[in-house]
Amino acid sequence: MKIVLTFDIERDIPGVFNSYFGVKFGLLKILKILDEFKIKATFFCTGDIIERFPEYVKLIERKDHEIACHGLNHERLKRLNFNECRQTIYQNKELLENCCQHSDIIGFRAPYLKPPSYLFKILANLGFKYDSSISSPKNLKKYQAIDAQIYEFPPSKYNIYFRIPLNLKFFSKRVFNKELVIIYFHPWEAIDMKALIFNQTNLFNKSKNLIFRPDRWVNTGDKFIQRLRNFIKEGFSKQVEFGTLKDLINNEKTPS
Ligand SMILES: [Zn+2]
Repeated sequence: MKIVLTFDIERDIPGVFNSYFGVKFGLLKILKILDEFKIKATFFCTGDIIERFPEYVKLIERKDHEIACHGLNHERLKRLNFNECRQTIYQNKELLENCCQHSDIIGFRAPYLKPPSYLFKILANLGFKYDSSISSPKNLKKYQAIDAQIYEFPPSKYNIYFRIPLNLKFFSKRVFNKELVIIYFHPWEAIDMKALIFNQTNLFNKSKNLIFRPDRWVNTGDKFIQRLRNFIKEGFSKQVEFGTLKDLINNEKTPS
């Protein structure tokens, strides 16, 4: 079986925070783990990250991971019209291409996993080869061609089980019996989000997040890193092949 680890490189929980602690302090920890196991992953980067942290984006490229696009400022694309949406994705791709001149940028993931209906047309027009935004609860489909030019690689929703207060086995059980699973993480998961939420000055948001959104902070920070390490180890023991989405496109064959 194949597993593609993907990371959405964006600010700390867009829509909740405007800080970048995840990229500043979590990303390197994630890269270290991937190095440790010699596996490659796909990193979807927003434009604000490329502008603020070009050295980190270049580092991802230098380590031979795949870099791809994730919007300019993590905007809700459905709120934009066709031309605005095209312009946003065009600028995101331009920024990434200028930052990372050795990479072919062929992948896109819509912020909030909410693609507008005309997304595929725009992606094909801008030279992308795949999208990974249409989240499938069970990942039953391996992947599918949307039209002659664009593939859809559905990201799994299982990633939420990675963080909620449950044993990692709950997650593993659902993942390790599929042909292909695309998992998505964020750099903020690798930092202590409980501290960040606790430091929020807005009491309403603080209580709401602490009480009702355990997925935003439980098992983040060192616990996330430990769980990621254990998960990859278990994958190796089950002969899982870890790779990038670009590998799937390049191989152009059904994973087995
Ligand atoms: Zn995102």
